[in-house]
Amino acid sequence: MAEHFQPREDVAMRAGYHSPQVDVEVRLNTNESPFSPPQAFLDALAAEVGRVKWNRYPDRAALDLRVKIAALHGVLPEQVFVANGSNEVLQTLTLTYAGPGRSVAVFEPTYAMHSQIARIAGSEVVEGARAADLSLDRAEVRRVLAESSPAITYVCSPNNPTGLIETEETVREVLSLVPGLLVVDEAYAQFAPWSALSLVSEDLPLVVTRTFSKTWSMAAARLGYLVGPSWVVAEMEKVVLPYHLDSLKQAAGTLALDFVEEMEHRVAELVEERGRLVAQLVDLPVEVWPSSANFVLFRPIERDGDAVWQDLLDQSVLVRNCSSWPGLDGCLRITIGTTEEDDRFLVALRKALS
Ligand SMILES: *Cc1c(COP(=O)(O)O)cnc(C)c1O
Repeated sequence: MAEHFQPREDVAMRAGYHSPQVDVEVRLNTNESPFSPPQAFLDALAAEVGRVKWNRYPDRAALDLRVKIAALHGVLPEQVFVANGSNEVLQTLTLTYAGPGRSVAVFEPTYAMHSQIARIAGSEVVEGARAADLSLDRAEVRRVLAESSPAITYVCSPNNPTGLIETEETVREVLSLVPGLLVVDEAYAQFAPWSALSLVSEDLPLVVTRTFSKTWSMAAARLGYLVGPSWVVAEMEKVVLPYHLDSLKQAAGTLALDFVEEMEHRVAELVEERGRLVAQLVDLPVEVWPSSANFVLFRPIERDGDAVWQDLLDQSVLVRNCSSWPGLDGCLRITIGTTEEDDRFLVALRKALS
């Protein structure tokens, strides 16, 4: 067999991001919206395809989109950075402020891409632990920040995969302690009662990230953004590839923002459905964490998490298997789906637990 040229050693030893895309009838594993965007949006976008100047590069500054996002949040367009999913936003931020010789702090269990992106960028990752109830432990935060002086500190609120939200008091305290930038990842913010966006200002090292993937029913588009001080955005623009955001995607994001009310309506529906699902889960032999997002973390008490996950899959219901994640022994995460999908899940779960 031919000898293959080897990648970087640190890349060769990594497993990569793992979330199986299996063909199933009920897919509740990646926190997408079960609803499609409004038909009027789809029609407007279809019309836009014919208006794109396909022979030209897109607007490099994505100005129309940034103006509209800025208006939505009451900030300046210079305080908004857009990219291909909030993952690319986080990657650009990491390349700009962390990278080799600098460290990134995360508090596990949390969104796996925070540390994955940091490591691929060559940063050192410092992992703090959460309290037993999976909330952020402020003493631990103080310890990690004092010991490692990270360039970037992550707070995910609501946190994926726990669904737990951080209070304004906690975020303010972490912000007062960080030696570098504080990133509040708000991929699920519209499901939650408060947002750190209200704290963003030119004088604070705080950025808040959002995505169109979940609440906007636009996971297929790959579009996300950051709101933060203009001096952060200006540095990130030096790092991101030129013309990274294609014209059609810019149009899709701009048009989507004409349908804020519809988005809020879908979110309200899912919050109600979440209440219904949790009410049924608490009657089963599972431990359930309170969620401020569109997913729920639970742990079967009498059966092994892996076995329950496989039993659900055998019944064509796919949920996220978190049972081997740090601090999440035996845990599974279910995305809130339609009433029909969630009922299918509940039937399958009852069978798996009996
Ligand atoms: C889903 C998710 C994202 C979204 O990433 P995109 O690249 O915008 O799809 C970001 N952060 C968290 C915590 C998530 O759960």
